[in-house]
Parts: sequence; structure tokens; C-alpha cells
Amino acid sequence: DVQVDALANVVVVLEVDPDKGAVLEGLRQDVEAAVTALEGVTGVQVVLTAQAVASAKVTPQPAPPEMMAHVKDVILVASGKGGVGKSTTTVNIALALSRLGKKVGIMDADIYGPSIPRMMGISGQPRSEDGKTLIPMESYDIKCMSMGFMVPEEEPTIWRGPMVMGALEQMLKDVEWAPLDILIVDMPPGTGDAQLTMAQGTELAGAIIVSTPQDIALLDARKGLNMFRQVDVPILGIIENMSYYICPKCGDEAHIFDNGGARETAKKNDCTFLGEIPLDREIRETSDAGRPIVISKTSSPHAKAYMEIATKILNEIDALK
Ligand code: ADP
Repeated sequence: DVQVDALANVVVVLEVDPDKGAVLEGLRQDVEAAVTALEGVTGVQVVLTAQAVASAKVTPQPAPPEMMAHVKDVILVASGKGGVGKSTTTVNIALALSRLGKKVGIMDADIYGPSIPRMMGISGQPRSEDGKTLIPMESYDIKCMSMGFMVPEEEPTIWRGPMVMGALEQMLKDVEWAPLDILIVDMPPGTGDAQLTMAQGTELAGAIIVSTPQDIALLDARKGLNMFRQVDVPILGIIENMSYYICPKCGDEAHIFDNGGARETAKKNDCTFLGEIPLDREIRETSDAGRPIVISKTSSPHAKAYMEIATKILNEIDALK
């Protein structure tokens, strides 16, 4: 498969016999060199899907004890749909937990739409001292790892499921996370390969579900909830994002995406409602600019709401132990 985008970046996917994946690395390099030599080509990415198929056959193994031994709790932040504010919630909660004295890391598992670098205000690439493990990037005293550090911001990640699973395993095991109290994993939306890889390959403290209040989003949130329960991942609770909107001019409270649905879903499904966050311009501006509200406007009501949610999360983790 060959794809060329408007900027003349070329992606070539070579589907080869899985058993020959390893010996065909030379072929991959030859193709890369040949395409690079073509006039007008600005970028080249050549991938062998055999490597991916081969790795898909391997059931995820728990992370080696030495790498994860000093990461106390791993929690997932998940959502049924994209765009509900999962990454915004992840960074603000991570910073809130850090302000509560925890040593925190964020692993951006949203391979196709990594937002963590931008929301944490980080650019550049992680280094490796031994050529095997990566030293995570750091911002506001939080260790971060994301595919966004590896691919240019506007370049799509064109990967099949098995490659995503491989990348997630590497991000967990080949990154120097330790020592950490909490590693927060920003999951891609939905219930797919990434969710299963994380649920089965790692010992998790639990998952947090972020949803907007309207039925259509909650329907998918419930699917996520049920999936995690099926694979024995405890649900730490549900957060309702974009819960209400206060008009800055008249102070009127509007419920653009409805209101209270997540609280109700939590109640019906017997899990904790962690709190609600309004739809607010400052929340968007600060997180999109890499200065999340929890650290840039510490005394704002929104920062306080995130701090309260973080405290509840710590209580939930403790209660499950
Ligand atoms: P997801 O990770 O679910 O795809 P994001 O966190 O990337 O969603 O959020 C999508 C957009 O919505 C971003 O521009 C973000 O700043 C904005 N956003 C998220 N939560 C809020 C909120 N409570 N109020 C205003 N804007 C928000």
C-alpha cells in the first residue's frame, strides 16, 4: 500500500509473510532508500506489517518486574468517544495529583491522536542513554511519554492494530518511569486493541471514565465500563466533562450537552461519581496552550474541582487495596 499526502510525505506499507518479517528488514531499508531518492519526496516512512502480525501472535506479557516495580499504581483514563475532553482531564488530574504530593507520570496511549505533548507544553524528543530504554520527557515535574514526541505533529500515524499494541507495550516497558506513585495512561477512545493490551498486560489500579452528559456519549461510556469490568479492571469512577456552561455575560447556567447523565450512569452501574467539570473557555485555552488550569490558575473554581476529583481518585485507589 502506498500513500502520498499533500506535502509529498510517502508512506509505504509492505505486507509480507509473517515468518520472514525479520529477514526482510533489508528490503524495507532498500525501499526506503529508493523512495527517498525520488524527486520531490519530502518524507518517507516504510513499514513491514509482518513484524506487526508476528507481534500480534504474542499475548501481552506482564511488564518485567524490574521496570514497573517502582511504579506503584497505573490508572487508565478512558472514554467511549473522542473529543469529550479525556486528554484535558488527564493532564489536569495528573497535575492535581502532583500538587497533592504524588510523583506522577503520563503515558499517552492515544497513538492516533496524541495530545499530551501539546497540553503539557513539551516539544523535542526523548533521549536514551543505553540505547534500550527511553528517558521520558518532563514538564511541571511530571514524566511524559507520547508517540507525539516521535512523529511530527501534523503527520498521521498510519498503523494497524498490532503495531499499536507493540507501541503501547514498549511505552510501558522500555521507558524509565520509575520511581512513580501514579502512572496515568491517556487511552484512545473506544474499546479496542489498546484497551485490551493495557488491561491484560499490566497490573492496573483501575480505570476512570470521562464522558460528556448526553445520551450518545454515555452509551459509549457504558460500553467502556462494561469492557473493563469484563477484563477485571476496577472502575475508579466516572467524570462528567462539559457538564454545564456559565455565560460570562449574564451568569446564566446552560446545559449544552445535557446535564447529570454521568452521575446517573455512575449510580445505575454501581460506581463512584468523581465529579463534574463545566464547559469553559479558560479550560480549553489553558490546556491547548500547554498550561493546564490546575497549575496556571490554581485558585480558580475549575482548578479546585480537579483537585477534589484527584483526592477522590486517591481515596478510591486506597479503598480497593
Ligand atoms: P479527547 O482527549 O477526549 O479527544 P480533548 O481533551 O483533546 O478530548 O479535548 C477536545 C477539545 O475540547 C480540546 O480543545 C480541549 O481543550 C477542549 N475541552 C476539553 N474539556 C473542556 C472543557 N471542560 N471546557 C472547554 N473545553 C474543553
